[in-house]
Amino acid sequence: METDTIVAISTPIGEGAISIVRLSGPEAIKIADSLFTGKSLYDVASHTIHYGKIVDTETNEIADEVMVSVMRAPKTFTREDVVEINCHGGLVAVNRILELTLANGARLADPGEFTKRAFLNGRIDLSQAEAVMDLIRAKTDKAMNVALGQMDGRLSRLIQKYRQELLETIAHVEVNIDYPEYDDVEEMSHELMREKTKEVHDHIEELLRVAKQGKILREGLSTAIIGRPNVGKSSLLNALVQENKAIVTDVPGTTRDVIEEYVNVRGVPLKLVDTAGIRETEDLVEKIGVERSRKVLQEADLILFVLNYNEPLTEDDKQLFEAITGLQYIVIINKTDLKQQLDLDEVNMLAEGRTLITTSLIEDKGIEELETAIANTFFAGEIESGDMTYVSNARHIQLLKQAKQALEDATTSLEMGMPLDIVQIDVTRTWEFLGEIVGDTASDALIDQLFSQFCLGK
Ligand code: GDP
Repeated sequence: METDTIVAISTPIGEGAISIVRLSGPEAIKIADSLFTGKSLYDVASHTIHYGKIVDTETNEIADEVMVSVMRAPKTFTREDVVEINCHGGLVAVNRILELTLANGARLADPGEFTKRAFLNGRIDLSQAEAVMDLIRAKTDKAMNVALGQMDGRLSRLIQKYRQELLETIAHVEVNIDYPEYDDVEEMSHELMREKTKEVHDHIEELLRVAKQGKILREGLSTAIIGRPNVGKSSLLNALVQENKAIVTDVPGTTRDVIEEYVNVRGVPLKLVDTAGIRETEDLVEKIGVERSRKVLQEADLILFVLNYNEPLTEDDKQLFEAITGLQYIVIINKTDLKQQLDLDEVNMLAEGRTLITTSLIEDKGIEELETAIANTFFAGEIESGDMTYVSNARHIQLLKQAKQALEDATTSLEMGMPLDIVQIDVTRTWEFLGEIVGDTASDALIDQLFSQFCLGK
């Protein structure tokens, strides 16, 4: 248990109806009580909320009218005494209350420190703590369901089950080796080991297969908008975002920076990237944009390629078609309100059977069709329901891959007829990799790093 009491503003900074200052630690009640006029917070029942005022003890000035929740250990998020002071929204009141708690013995919490305490005090494991962070960052319902399931310990239970199986196998083999009752004990142990490693290997493989979708749900489908200058890329981005964050202009090549936006298209989160377009250029500033564009293309899950209905296909267009050959893309033929100059047969030939959508962004036409096409591309693939997704966190995916590799190494050793104590090394490594997911075998440095990614006050 930690000995100091931490405090943070747990609601987003800015205007709102209420803000919450949260205290956790052995002195949480004492500190709150010293500032609170109303009932004695020492006497109230746990998990109750009380009306009163927060008063500056030095000046006797009233800081704010508040509702204070008192939650005594151990049935709290951190397993410590927790007090939440609900005050008026806005910056002034909440900051004053924060300062008063600091002046009275609390310490400002590090990012994620409340959740870290919950982890250190054994209330949740590491993957559950990470789920708290995923939940905060979830951009769609689907992503949120995955995080909720993980927070609930769904992944942890599965991982612990596999670890237990590996541990039992290791123990079993040890016993067989130490107390050989039969002559063929070596062979039996090999058989058992092969069976168990295969079983766990297959489970991990399945988790990883579905995890790919979880990653998309969590991080968004990385979507690049490409096309020559002035075809309507920014307009498309704006139409999808329905805000005017990217600059729309008549001067070719003015969208120089790569801008990122998130949109939710029928439950599919798109991470939209508007690029300067790919073409040869002498302009240095533009060149930075172009180089980055090429990189974006390779990393994109989906490409929206915009053409101008009002112009014949140019060399640049053809080069772009070449650049995206084999990638996942949708062709958007924009400016259909203007006179047709584009040879659609030619486009169809270059587009390798990909979906073609016609739009007039200036007249708000075709966006619905485009959204349908995007959603179809996403759902028509192997995307499964959120219930199947246990893993969506990059760190977990990496560790699962390492665990899978270690099991494959074990299988190879088994097939080569290596002695079991050599095979054991790989099985033990697998057990450790899986342990890192839930935090059993995670180092302090890793734990510090993970929690530092949290928002303040969580
Ligand atoms: P970008 O350079 O590819 O990002 O293109 P922009 O989105 O900046 O658009 C370039 C110009 O084309 C702007 O003046 C837009 O208003 C205009 N534009 C975009 N979409 C349409 C459209 O569907 N029809 C017409 N007539 N003009 C459009």
